[in-house]
Amino acid sequence: MEILVVGSVALDTVTTPFGDAREVLGGSATYFASSASFFAPVSVVGVVGEDFPMEALEFLRRREVDLTGLERRPGRTFRWRGEYGFALNEAKTLETQLNVFAEFHPRLPEPYREREVVFLANIDPDLQREVLTQVLSPRLVAADTMNFWIQGKPEALRQTLKQVQILIINDAEARMLAEEPNLVRAAKTILGWGPRSLIIKRGEYGALSFSDGGWFAAPALPLENVYDPTGAGDAFAGGFLGFLASTRNFDEANLRRAVIMGSVMASFAVEAFSLHRLQHLTYPEIESRYRQFKQLAHFEDL
Ligand code: AMP
Repeated sequence: MEILVVGSVALDTVTTPFGDAREVLGGSATYFASSASFFAPVSVVGVVGEDFPMEALEFLRRREVDLTGLERRPGRTFRWRGEYGFALNEAKTLETQLNVFAEFHPRLPEPYREREVVFLANIDPDLQREVLTQVLSPRLVAADTMNFWIQGKPEALRQTLKQVQILIINDAEARMLAEEPNLVRAAKTILGWGPRSLIIKRGEYGALSFSDGGWFAAPALPLENVYDPTGAGDAFAGGFLGFLASTRNFDEANLRRAVIMGSVMASFAVEAFSLHRLQHLTYPEIESRYRQFKQLAHFEDL
């Protein structure tokens, strides 16, 4: 199955306790596509400004990511500036410049309308819905969001959630969205708004999945080298949906395998700044880390 993603393609400026990066390649759609493209064909919808270095996306083209839906418009590219303390789970946003995204309305190239798996990456919830109205009959729609939209466009976001089957957000976002500090109660509230599954990412503490089929807890791999958590969530979503699209199976058992594959891809994303690790990743490395995850929580009963 082919995947369609709408999201940001960005220039990020990031500071972590381990260094900083200025105006580097980022964006929710970029991280997602680079991760999902290991598993399934990906088409990107988004916009960049005339200042965007198009050659930075060459590695995605080599992985056969379809970029015909990525428009280039007069103006400046979306920019995000953030920092992390030693508690790497929480990004502090210092600045968000929507720039060309402020006036953007996605127009899907004709072949994109046929895509069966859709990922509404972190972007204005109104744009997320504009994409959905143009897709003919998707089999699976998943979405992400963040505090910027939860606080800035709560009504639009609730409308989007009605059309989403799987919501993939982090623990702070789940609490903020549901206005409920307890994660289990927050999950129940959110599942009442439309999605049939909710995946909550908890950074170095792993991921939780809530759905009718039950709850599932995946560990995160304890890593020795963590430099930049930016994009971990989108890399997770890319591994998760890429795996579901390539196996064409959305049952509970496969959803759990997909959560592990998401965790595998997130674990690579954080090992370097920007997309450097995902850019140079190989499929055998992914397989080997998937096996490591299997060992991680395995134990023999008495
Ligand atoms: P993640 O760390 O996976 O949640 O996503 C990080 C990416 O999201 C960064 O590369 C940013 O460029 C992008 N981003 C940050 N804020 C926003 C926003 N308000 N809308 C869309 N994308 C954003």
